[in-house]
Amino acid sequence: MKRIIINNFLFFLFLINIAYSAQNLIPPSDIQYSEKKVTIIIDPGHGGGDWGINYRGIYEKNITLDISRKIKEKLLKDNPRMVVYMTRVDDQFLNINDRVNYANSQKGDVFLSIHCDFIPSESISGYKIYYMLSDNIAEKQRTELINWDTIQTSHINSSGKLASFMDQYMRAALIKEDNNITGNDEDDVLPLESRGVFRIKSFILKSINMPAVVVEVGNIYNRNDFSYLTDKNIINQIAYHIKEGIINYLIKTNYQ
Ligand SMILES: [Zn+2]
Repeated sequence: MKRIIINNFLFFLFLINIAYSAQNLIPPSDIQYSEKKVTIIIDPGHGGGDWGINYRGIYEKNITLDISRKIKEKLLKDNPRMVVYMTRVDDQFLNINDRVNYANSQKGDVFLSIHCDFIPSESISGYKIYYMLSDNIAEKQRTELINWDTIQTSHINSSGKLASFMDQYMRAALIKEDNNITGNDEDDVLPLESRGVFRIKSFILKSINMPAVVVEVGNIYNRNDFSYLTDKNIINQIAYHIKEGIINYLIKTNYQ
């Protein structure tokens, strides 16, 4: 682990300013490696003729694919026993059923869907994490028949934990991912704010048979978020923080 080297007073002030609200966390991938096979499903939102948000020449489908690829690459680099599937690996159209059926057939331990917001307000910025809000259907869960339309209900507690850890690690100040880079010693803090964890009635989440979340990585309408989500380095940073949130969830829930 590297120490922060303070070269001058102004730099020190700058560090205090950006790090004051971020909790310093040790990336869990630095602590523990899995002995067990774990399957992660990443779902890059939209694709093909479904562009998602199309704003100032930027397509949501490309941002979601870039982030998903980076998360996959980082998960595999950390742990060769990790199995990572993506619902799409290129610019391909998929409907919700395609995504759900693929994810469930791979019997994943975690499902993560990546999207961006478009809220026409400069005052709304940052990422947001969703997990399923279902009606009270505990009775239905006791029946013999599996109701695929509401299968997520049996994973709600785990999905809530996954969402909280994801938020915690996206907010956190982490050690730089490549801490061999000289002259670059400050902690890794995402420039994007957290809008927090929310529950939603979601067509995609309700039929996913594993702990599942949707991450809206930012509001593309917002000027700052637009610049962050079109910056390759920040895309890489977002993937790093999301990956650490997944690893921490796996450690805390004894998958690892
Ligand atoms: Zn979307």
